[in-house]
Amino acid sequence: MDNLQRTISRVVEYSGIGLFTGVEVKLRFKPALANTGIVFVRTDVEGHPKVPANIEMLYDTKRLVTLEKDGVGVKSVEHVMAAFSGLGIDNIEIEVNSNEVPAGDGSSLLFLQLLKGTGIKTLAEPKNTYYLQEELRVSNGDASMIALPYDKGLSLSYILDFNGSFLNRQCFEIEMTEDNFSTQIAPARTFGLCTVIEEYKKLGLGKGVTDDNSLILQEDGSITKPLSMSPAELRFPNECVRHKILDIIGDLYLTNLTLHARIVATKSGHYLNTCMAEKIYESAKKYAHK
Ligand SMILES: [Zn+2]
Repeated sequence: MDNLQRTISRVVEYSGIGLFTGVEVKLRFKPALANTGIVFVRTDVEGHPKVPANIEMLYDTKRLVTLEKDGVGVKSVEHVMAAFSGLGIDNIEIEVNSNEVPAGDGSSLLFLQLLKGTGIKTLAEPKNTYYLQEELRVSNGDASMIALPYDKGLSLSYILDFNGSFLNRQCFEIEMTEDNFSTQIAPARTFGLCTVIEEYKKLGLGKGVTDDNSLILQEDGSITKPLSMSPAELRFPNECVRHKILDIIGDLYLTNLTLHARIVATKSGHYLNTCMAEKIYESAKKYAHK
């Protein structure tokens, strides 16, 4: 990727249902000027308040990533953020007429295709690039994430391990390029454990879950569709670990930085991913002043 900022070339729209709320939502992606950043605009709220997609707006990471500013929020931003990161989009406005980004097919693929289809436009300002200058670590129980200095771009590795239940251990490692992201990561769909799905039903969550937007891991090791419970056709044999990397890419892009670092994650989820995003964001600020 060159080091100039990018946006999309024209307006593009997408409608679909939110995974957690089940509400039909319309998204409208609009080109933006250099140094605008990534900004959600809640068109259903009076005054059309803006919510910048930045780690400082992080409100909640339980199961999904929610941003909030002055009491106005947008949920489930991670898969669309991953698409922006994959395409190197630094500036874009996303009008949304509800409080949740639609699920699409549970991956970043639809967003990636829509945005790419507009043509990516290069702007005459340099990207906000950060070459990580220090080793950073976060952990929570047996989940951990390490970020190391690395000058060749963004490298990500992930170990998915349910300690003998559900899936066998899956490991995956990738160098972040537009092509690698588009073909190896963007199509990987979200998944849940069958035990968690029961909990969601009790809590009235996951109202937008359909057979076409998520995978369910069963205790016997099989992977099924969530409603019909018929066997799921996987896009990759290790689709789950690839989706975990997709989530990291989306969550780390809340730093709004083009990051050069090596990320090594074990069993991390949105909570740890965003803890690391905060540390990287603070580190970039610290070294910007040196
Ligand atoms: Zn996800």
